[in-house]
Amino acid sequence: MPMKTIIEPFRIKVVEPIRMTTPQERALLLEQAGYNVFLLRSEDVLLDLLTDSGTSAMSAEQWAGIMRGDESYAGSPSYYRFEDAVKEVFGFEQVIPTHQGRAAERILFQTLCSPGDIVPSNTHFDTTRANTEAVGARPVDLPVPEGLRPSDPAPFKGNLDVDRLEALIEEEGADRIPLVMLTLTNNSGGGQPVSMANIQAVARVCRAHGIPLYMDACRFAENAYLIRLREEGYADRPVAEIAREIFSWADGCTMSAKKDGLANIGGFVATNDPELARKQRNMLILTEGFPTYGGLAGRDLEAIAIGLREVLHEDYLEYRLASVRYLGERIAAGGVPIVQPPGGHAIYIDAAAFLPHIPPLELPGQTLVAELYLEGGIRGVEVGTVMFGRRDPETGEESPASMELVRLALPRRVYTQSHVDFMVEAILDFAARKEAVGGYRFTYQADVLRHFTANFEPLYDLGV
Ligand SMILES: *Cc1c(COP(=O)(O)O)cnc(C)c1O
Repeated sequence: MPMKTIIEPFRIKVVEPIRMTTPQERALLLEQAGYNVFLLRSEDVLLDLLTDSGTSAMSAEQWAGIMRGDESYAGSPSYYRFEDAVKEVFGFEQVIPTHQGRAAERILFQTLCSPGDIVPSNTHFDTTRANTEAVGARPVDLPVPEGLRPSDPAPFKGNLDVDRLEALIEEEGADRIPLVMLTLTNNSGGGQPVSMANIQAVARVCRAHGIPLYMDACRFAENAYLIRLREEGYADRPVAEIAREIFSWADGCTMSAKKDGLANIGGFVATNDPELARKQRNMLILTEGFPTYGGLAGRDLEAIAIGLREVLHEDYLEYRLASVRYLGERIAAGGVPIVQPPGGHAIYIDAAAFLPHIPPLELPGQTLVAELYLEGGIRGVEVGTVMFGRRDPETGEESPASMELVRLALPRRVYTQSHVDFMVEAILDFAARKEAVGGYRFTYQADVLRHFTANFEPLYDLGV
């Protein structure tokens, strides 16, 4: 039987116009933004691939849930529908809502960690790293070696290196490790999934040493579907069942509902430990709110409850992973080097390999981000020296990041295949003239998190 096109499994009920601009307008807008796409107005962006966080399109059911939201301070039915959904999808007994993922992380680390502790992970996301450090503990990344090789097409580059975990426990002692964390999928490592075999192996090591295992579950559904596509023995298993199997190996999780919750805000921390949950609820009351709303409106809890079930629909996940793969495969076929294989939520272009004539300290990723905006009004994000490079505060000397990537993150259910076709055309049109572009330099940078507010200047003539 011939394979049919994988279509968007929805039709469109509400539309949001997007605005075309001319290359001349974009050159002016970019200059006014100091060549930093974070400083553009989103109305001036045609296709916004800055992030997949909080940018999902909600379904008709979710909007109906928004109307049904009950805003009672305590004991709202919206909370109980949310709690039921989390218990059904994840299987944890204790569920604590938070305003987004990082609040869940703070509550987890503040209740589990002490100064001097060590928290191993496949790779900590920025906010889990920062929240670990904020309680005086040390985050340690233990990715498998293939996770650091962009062109290696290994299927589970998000895996944690179990040998290194055992060596770390041996060296430091299990009592200094209050938890191990697995990020599903591994966002900082190219959106790459973790295999069920790796989850089981990590869980066994944790259990042998009495260490709790927590999941950073932001993209759990995409990870579960990639297990189904890539791991032996899962091809015929319902994806909801794969998700339950993942969490059956864990003691709890943190979640940002802005990702695989298909919601625009929200999150939670969940656990099977009632004593820990009691402490966490007390901390929640101090900074987030009463335990049946946790800093969210009742309507947000409804949207999340519905989103957590919708995200596991197989036709949705088939379309989701197909659109990311389609973007990656089409530009790779046109000679653009990407992090292989395409992951769950984004395509990462290897800007160092794509623009080898631009040295790292002339910011090839920044060049690519600026040029994709000039070419097609597309906004991506630099994940290279601008974001992770360092400037010596005394000498002003810059040191580059280990990789120069540009991330194109696809918001969920927002863009259609012709939008993706347009992205491919714009990227390949730029590829055809890439030799003519040069680098950038900073004209302003803040001391911390400089990528958000930096200003730049091109070191070449933009030719617009
Ligand atoms: C987004 C994200 C978080 C933090 O969630 P927020 O809702 O942005 O606070 C944590 N971990 C991962 C892997 C993420 O992608």
